[in-house]
Amino acid sequence: STAIDIRSVVKRYGTATALHGVSLAIADNEFFTLLGPSGCGKTTLLRCIAGFEDVTEGEIHLFGQNIAGLEPNHRPVNTVFQQYALFPHMTVLENVAFGLKMKGVGLSERTARAGRMLEMVHLSAFADRLPSQLSGGQQQRVALARALAPEPKVLLLDEPLSALDLKLRQAMRVELKTLQEQTGITFIFVTHDQEEALTMSDRIAVMSQGRVQQIGTARDIYEAP
Ligand code: ADP
Ligand code: ADP
Repeated sequence: STAIDIRSVVKRYGTATALHGVSLAIADNEFFTLLGPSGCGKTTLLRCIAGFEDVTEGEIHLFGQNIAGLEPNHRPVNTVFQQYALFPHMTVLENVAFGLKMKGVGLSERTARAGRMLEMVHLSAFADRLPSQLSGGQQQRVALARALAPEPKVLLLDEPLSALDLKLRQAMRVELKTLQEQTGITFIFVTHDQEEALTMSDRIAVMSQGRVQQIGTARDIYEAP
């Protein structure tokens, strides 16, 4: 079934047009990537899906509901950014549990769920450490666990690996792909890195200057003339 239906979305900032009528349907459980150079509109589209921005024209439907009518707190969407901004004074476990606290989940339940999330990203041994005691890759995995803990139906990832060095980035690609398959959550991944897109995605939308130029599997994109 369709998780996200993006219908003729136009986004203007004053006189500048960031999105010129983008239409896309993203399936439930898909690892979907928005690929394109800096300034092509990837982040803007992600922010519109998250509801951080209103679209100027067009509509975005999440599981059949127009997001314009959904309260931000009721959108089944969570986001991971390049700058993962963990709370420095909270332990790793407290960081992961924090989003659940905001949703009103009680202490014992959120501690249990945060613990399971840390297992999933192989960081159980670090639960009581502070973020500053972890490497960059480990911190990014904590940010992922934190975003997954409230069990969103859709996870938006805006260049989450670009702050990591090459070796770590390659390892994290595999880990992200596995996490997506394990959880069945729809991932929308933003990157300007073609290799990253080709190795991880079920499908890719190639964007340029506020438009989708091409949509297909890695093979479709790679073999296109
Ligand atoms: P990408 O994520 O692909 O790098 P963005 O979505 O950030 O691209 O930006 C697309 C275009 O919209 C760029 O020309 C950018 O300068 C412009 N833009 C993005 N956000 C704003 C904003 N808040 N105000 C004005 N222009 C913006
Ligand atoms: P990226 O290139 O990683 O997508 P940017 O550095 O372009 O991100 O944008 C970071 C933030 O600045 C975003 O919130 C975006 O909306 C905003 N922004 C981008 N371009 C402009 C612009 N021309 N004017 C105002 N805000 C902008």
